[in-house]
Amino acid sequence: MPDMPSANILYIEDDLGLAELVRIKLKREGYHVAHTESGHQGVMLMRDQDFDAVLIDFYLPDMNGLEVLKGIQALQPKAVCIMISGIDDMQLVVDAIKQGAEDFVLKDSEGAYLELLPTTLGKVLLKQRLIAEKEAAEQEKSKSEAFYRSLIDHTHVVAWEYLPNTGRFSYVSSQAEKLTGHSLEEWTSDGFWQASLHPQDYAKVNAFCSSRSHSQEEEGLEFRLLKKDGSELWLRQLVSVVEIDSESCCVLRGFLIDITESKQAMEKQRLAELVFDTIHEGIMITDTHNCIEVVNPAFTKITGYSFDEVRGQNPRILSSGLQDARFYTALWQSLNKHGHWEGELWNRHKNGEMYAQSTSISYVHDEVGNIKRHIAIFGDVTEKKQADEKIYHQANYDSLTELPNRQLFQDRLHSAVASAKRNHSQLALLYIDLDRFKEVNDSAGHEAGDRLLIQVAKRLNECIRETDTLARLGGDEFTVILSNLSTNYDIENIARTMLEVLEQPFSLAGDIDAAISASIGIAMYPADGGDDETLVRHADAAMYRVKETGRNGFEFFTAEMNREAGKRQQFKSAFKDSLEKGEFKVFFQPVWRLSDGKIMGVEALSRWQHPEWGMVMPDDFIPVAEESGFIHELSLFVVNEVVKQIKAWDEQAFNEISVAINLSPIQFRRLDDWLAQMHKVLSEHAIAPHRIKLEITETALMGDTLKLMETLSHVQTSGIEISLDDFGTGFSSLSRISGMPLNFIKIDRSFVSQIGQGRQCNVIEAIISMSHSMDCQVIAEGIETVEQREYLKQLGCDFGQGFLCSRPVPAADLLTLLQKGFLFD
Ligand code: C2E
Ligand code: MG
Ligand code: MG
Repeated sequence: MPDMPSANILYIEDDLGLAELVRIKLKREGYHVAHTESGHQGVMLMRDQDFDAVLIDFYLPDMNGLEVLKGIQALQPKAVCIMISGIDDMQLVVDAIKQGAEDFVLKDSEGAYLELLPTTLGKVLLKQRLIAEKEAAEQEKSKSEAFYRSLIDHTHVVAWEYLPNTGRFSYVSSQAEKLTGHSLEEWTSDGFWQASLHPQDYAKVNAFCSSRSHSQEEEGLEFRLLKKDGSELWLRQLVSVVEIDSESCCVLRGFLIDITESKQAMEKQRLAELVFDTIHEGIMITDTHNCIEVVNPAFTKITGYSFDEVRGQNPRILSSGLQDARFYTALWQSLNKHGHWEGELWNRHKNGEMYAQSTSISYVHDEVGNIKRHIAIFGDVTEKKQADEKIYHQANYDSLTELPNRQLFQDRLHSAVASAKRNHSQLALLYIDLDRFKEVNDSAGHEAGDRLLIQVAKRLNECIRETDTLARLGGDEFTVILSNLSTNYDIENIARTMLEVLEQPFSLAGDIDAAISASIGIAMYPADGGDDETLVRHADAAMYRVKETGRNGFEFFTAEMNREAGKRQQFKSAFKDSLEKGEFKVFFQPVWRLSDGKIMGVEALSRWQHPEWGMVMPDDFIPVAEESGFIHELSLFVVNEVVKQIKAWDEQAFNEISVAINLSPIQFRRLDDWLAQMHKVLSEHAIAPHRIKLEITETALMGDTLKLMETLSHVQTSGIEISLDDFGTGFSSLSRISGMPLNFIKIDRSFVSQIGQGRQCNVIEAIISMSHSMDCQVIAEGIETVEQREYLKQLGCDFGQGFLCSRPVPAADLLTLLQKGFLFD
């Protein structure tokens, strides 16, 4: 038995002799013994000192052992007390033991008691020590249990215990609820696993749970669990232990950790890598020193360089040299200021070819704000740029002549005016319209017309400075902007040169030559207009004036032209209303047979009786009506009026009078339509076609000759006769019109007016004889004098028309004329 070294013993004994004997004996055994004589003192000592054991003599002078025991236990419930008593007190001893005394020792008279006491004491102390050790061990155990429990409860892992044979958890730590939202009761209830596992992961988890041994791979089992709110939670199985419990059932234990975040991060990373590898844009990442660290496959595709070829290089190896130093300075400035730059630049492919790339460069900073990397993302936009340029070109340039078109002209004019305004300088705007272009186009074909336009553009271009703009507005209209004019800049000279170069013959397809001219209108900034729109309008008005006054020339804009232009504008907007209000009238002028003076027919001539402007004459409004398209409506109106009058004359028995209706060249574009409409009106009113004549001009004959001949032949077959009006003013010659389906040729007034002026009138003679040879009858227009009439009659001219007989008059007046039985001679 191990000795009890230095155990402190309190010995309460009133027998001092015995006490001394015991003390000596115990001291020898290695105990420290404190002695007291009374129970009271013993209890007092227990209050102040710790003793490993108390020996209590049962009979004490002041109290019995039981009372002392109680007193001591009140102070130290765990105090180890041994009763010492004589044989007579056995019952009391039994009580004391019941009350918590550890043991007792009998006092005998032979002294065995002295021997027994150390043994008993040793036994009791040993027992106490064992108990204390056990208690300490238990305490330690529960402490460590509490430690682990608290550890588990405070970490993010879920500790669990699963019973495969019941298919449910017998335990899960509190983290399970925090992570999933499912309460611990739910976790440990039947069917929890089935209900909350992600359907795609159920099979593998189920296999894991039914397995009695787990490989290392399975230890890292990852799966998804559906949280209470339906979202997914990624868990990883950490350690798992398979144990067989006391009832030989299998038990699984382990930990789960939440790996949702890392799974998401991995997914993000995976996506990032996917994007990096598959994106069509090139990505280049450079380090602090701007050396290439990483590039993606698209980089290689766009630049031609593999990663190995550019690793560690400065991105300038891609440089094309097309951007100057200023460009890169601006780039770096923007990067340094905003941490970002975006723009387009040209780089050079490994094979030497240039390509355009749209680039975005950003800085990436480290935690403390230092520049860590540059990321450049770029796409090849060469094709797009080329397409943009093509679109720009298409939108701004005329595809035929390659000159700026109307759009670009307007832009340029706008900037030119703005700059002239700023610099207090002058500019000139020339509006050029080719004369007779339509005739060339119609007679020689569109291809030849196109060739002509190209050559015109070329010739005009040679007349101007490089800084000036020559544009084609469309058709045969060109403009020139002459900006920054110095005072001695001779605009007239330029206009004249232009007219001269255009007068030179053009050689078109094959052996076709063409001669044209141009009408040029000029408006000056600031004198003639302070803004672009006014300048264009005024240059156009000036050009219009040139057209009106015989073409092939130039005019500077004047205020009077502006009024003209204004008038045209007013006409255009008033036409429709005026027609509906009945302001348009048809007048009639007789045509008589020169041989006997009999009125054979009349010519219908339009008049516009405007309430404010008075009588507006056709020479004023017909060109505007042609320009605006109103001519079509007007001419139908004329047909209806004519038909009405024929009916009226018929009733008066003038049923041989024919009416000539003027057809504008513009109407030839829709001639078939118009003819159909006219025939319809005629048949509705049962008017015989031979009562109608159509007057066409030479210009109208310039179009598609074959088609025209066909149409006019049809017209003729239907009974309507055709006159060629104003003959001699146009460019056509008699030889050109020979073979055309014509019935009459009207000699223009300008020839007739020459009769009696003492000049030779060979032309009239020639026209008459040639016409007759073509089976055409001749009508002389504008006969004002008897001399003219007689002369024409002599030459064999068939009919006459002119003021000498009558001015054009309203229908009622004409009727009076006819009723008088007017025979003009
Ligand atoms: P036009 O067809 O040559 O008509 C003859 C023009 O000469 C008429 O002018 C007539 O008044 C004028 N005139 C006739 N005899 C004399 C004369 O002895 N001396 C002078 N100085 N002039 C004479 P108006 O009516 O002013 O018409 C001018 C032109 O306008 C016409 O020339 C014709 O080309 C056109 N026109 C008139 N009405 C119409 C119409 O309804 N439709 C179309 N498309 N054109 C029309
Ligand atoms: Mg006429
Ligand atoms: Mg005429």
